[in-house]
Amino acid sequence: MYKLEVYPEKCHGCGNCVIACPVNARDPNVFGGKGPEDDSKVVMRIINGVVTIINGDLCKGCGACVEACPVDAIKLIVE
Ligand code: SF4
Ligand code: SF4
Repeated sequence: MYKLEVYPEKCHGCGNCVIACPVNARDPNVFGGKGPEDDSKVVMRIINGVVTIINGDLCKGCGACVEACPVDAIKLIVE
């Protein structure tokens, strides 16, 4: 099981994590660098300038979002 923790106080909403996530990339809009087309398909998105977990259960635990974040605002916990 994987659990994502986000630290909104650190996040500046760059969206790197949203684009880096391979689950999110299945949405054609995210793959094209835009916001997700359908919230049910994405792990996280940016809401009001801050990363927000939408469907944490879709996370595959690859760690790409953690690597992509320049400010350590996402942590992946393996349970
Ligand atoms: S760990 Fe991988 S699958 Fe999970 S949210 Fe981050 S990039 Fe997406
Ligand atoms: S969590 Fe990190 S990579 Fe994602 S939007 Fe915030 S600052 Fe950018």
